[in-house]
Amino acid sequence: MSGLFRHWLTRRIIQRSQITPGQWAEVFAALPLLRGYSEAELLRLRELAILFLHRKVFEGGAGFIVTEAMMLIIAVQACIPILKLAIDCYDGWLTVIVYPAGFAPRRVVRDEFGVVHNVQSHLSGEAWQRGPVVLAWDDTEHAGVIDGHNLVIHEFAHKLDMQTGVANGFPPLHANMSSTHWFEVFSKGFEDFQNRCSRGEHIGIDCYAATLPAEFFAVLSEVFFERPELIQQYYADIYAQLRLYYRQDPLLRLA
Ligand SMILES: [Zn+2]
Repeated sequence: MSGLFRHWLTRRIIQRSQITPGQWAEVFAALPLLRGYSEAELLRLRELAILFLHRKVFEGGAGFIVTEAMMLIIAVQACIPILKLAIDCYDGWLTVIVYPAGFAPRRVVRDEFGVVHNVQSHLSGEAWQRGPVVLAWDDTEHAGVIDGHNLVIHEFAHKLDMQTGVANGFPPLHANMSSTHWFEVFSKGFEDFQNRCSRGEHIGIDCYAATLPAEFFAVLSEVFFERPELIQQYYADIYAQLRLYYRQDPLLRLA
């Protein structure tokens, strides 16, 4: 598809959107997180959310009915991380599955010794490589309050990370960024954070971030958009890297 045709098609999808000003007002009011956004940013967020809804399919899990308002609130939050990136960052997969509440899939896993276990873990969300994003509505509904937790941003940060394969806390960086530097500051921060958590020291960032580099990136992405001052205070180098990666500066927005 030529660039011009693609651009025309994108504009057409946006212009033909049936979402009313009232629906937008409702979703923005439900997301205090968006208070510091400029008019231009909110307009871009609307456009990205329209494209997101056009490209993705929503399914209810366990008989849950996903309403238009729910889809919109998920789409808008999913587009916060890509506000200054592109909708194409979410290419390569199709479905968002929404469960009414936390879910507990039973799975067979093989451990490092080759032993197979039948496990059942309780989850509020997950992102599959080249597969769906799964969200629990009870956690999603209140994700947009400013408390440093945002399930939607968390799962979609995993999706950004997975653009290069398995989630490992290393999304594809921009030309003005250094992979070596990213690796250094994130490794150092991850080790420091693991130490703080094992000492029982709490700095307002969920210790779930200490489980894996991929979770460190996803949790810090949530905190970056909701409580950026925490990352700036404890991990200023990581804040600078996230600012370059997301091309956003939430510290300025939430000041
Ligand atoms: Zn995660």
